[in-house]
Amino acid sequence: MKKIVVIGGGESGFGAAVLAQKQGYEVFVTDNSAIEEIYRAGLRERGIPFEEGGHTFDKLTDADEAIKSPGIPDTAPLVRELAERGIPVISEIEFAGRYMGDARTICITGSNGKTTTATLAWRLLADAGYDVCLSGNIGRSFALEVASARHDWYVLELSSFQLDGMRDFRADIAALLNITPDHLDRYDYDMARYAASKMGIVRNQCAEDFFIFSDDDPVIREQLAGRKLPMHLLPFSLGDVHGGKFVVRVGERRFSMPVGEMKIRGDHNIYNAMAATMAAMAAGVPDESIRATLAAFESVEHRMERVCETGGVEWINDSKATNVDAVRYALGSVTSRPVIWIAGGTDKGNDYSLLRALAVGRVKTLVCMGVDNRKLIDAFSGIVPEIIDTHSLPEAMRAAFETARAGDTVLLSPACASFDLFKNYEERGRQFKEWIHARVISGLPGTRSVISSLPDDSR
Ligand code: ADP
Repeated sequence: MKKIVVIGGGESGFGAAVLAQKQGYEVFVTDNSAIEEIYRAGLRERGIPFEEGGHTFDKLTDADEAIKSPGIPDTAPLVRELAERGIPVISEIEFAGRYMGDARTICITGSNGKTTTATLAWRLLADAGYDVCLSGNIGRSFALEVASARHDWYVLELSSFQLDGMRDFRADIAALLNITPDHLDRYDYDMARYAASKMGIVRNQCAEDFFIFSDDDPVIREQLAGRKLPMHLLPFSLGDVHGGKFVVRVGERRFSMPVGEMKIRGDHNIYNAMAATMAAMAAGVPDESIRATLAAFESVEHRMERVCETGGVEWINDSKATNVDAVRYALGSVTSRPVIWIAGGTDKGNDYSLLRALAVGRVKTLVCMGVDNRKLIDAFSGIVPEIIDTHSLPEAMRAAFETARAGDTVLLSPACASFDLFKNYEERGRQFKEWIHARVISGLPGTRSVISSLPDDSR
């Protein structure tokens, strides 16, 4: 019996282990920290052996193949050891792709917009009656989905880490939204390596496949320059917005949609809508169905999510904005109101100079929310009229609330990961919304005095 080692016991590793067992492999899961109880219980229930809190190297190096979870870098000692011994280390997506039968895939990657675009593409197919499953970097892992049921279509959101471990996997329809600096810590701070990783989305594509990409993105254009690619090339661009309508083409077929009829807002969402629409067109979804879905689709939670407007103050949760480019679009989409911008957290090597010009005249107050705010404060001193240094969410919220006046927008768009103060960006976004519901919405009327009478729960 062939032996598979699964490195990492989270969503991805658990799914890989379940699928490998189902396919008749001898499986062993290893994780150098604690495995979450939900996965631990699932492994026990299925009789899949595992270890946690460290790796027993001797036990692992006789594997035929290893499946690595995307969170584990190639430089991890175990991954290095396996690679040195010639044991193939693949991603869970590569593994699951072997067992999906004749299903077809729409694979979406980019530095920003993956979840929004993948969710919209999935909705476009589902609303048209397709048997389609949304997976990858979103929801349940691809391997677990493949192990659980058969589908005609999979829409997969793929991160660069997932693309890195792909060998034979081939996307029928691939979409690359943008390439801007992110996760550079995992690519030796080398933008060229990160860009090459993203281009992995087209690996193995052939003449009948489709490649959807942003023609406005200079890094993508550079990557494509001079390359002969066999698949149908489907570029999208804001240059194809005319008279308030976006226009996209797939072969001879042309589709247009009035931007004002969509609920999602901002240039970044026009890009996302164009890419998802082209994917749906390539999959054969009819125009009328596409139009109805585009008109009904609302933003995904934590992505420019409008929480409420009370007392003339608008509150927007963009907790998912964990890098500078996402914030660029967030600030760019609030055009007519002064912004109280809440930012900060775990810095991934951000270059804030890219945001300075955008902040001028637009951001009236920057509320820094992180353990260490020095870099942010230095970057915006003299640019933003007021900067408030806070170190917790309640403290930041109170500062924002006290500063906000009717007509302002309070925007949580951190440009940073959340790990210094929160478990993840979802928890950060949820706490933001809970605070608003508890203190702003329920506190009405007389909101301002409600806040000042609150006990100091911020430390
Ligand atoms: P991802 O899954 O790639 O992180 P999301 O759809 O979750 O993408 O959006 C992440 C953040 O990026 C949000 O703050 C969102 O407002 C912003 N964003 C969404 N689409 C784009 C885009 N096409 N270009 C730049 N920023 C975007």
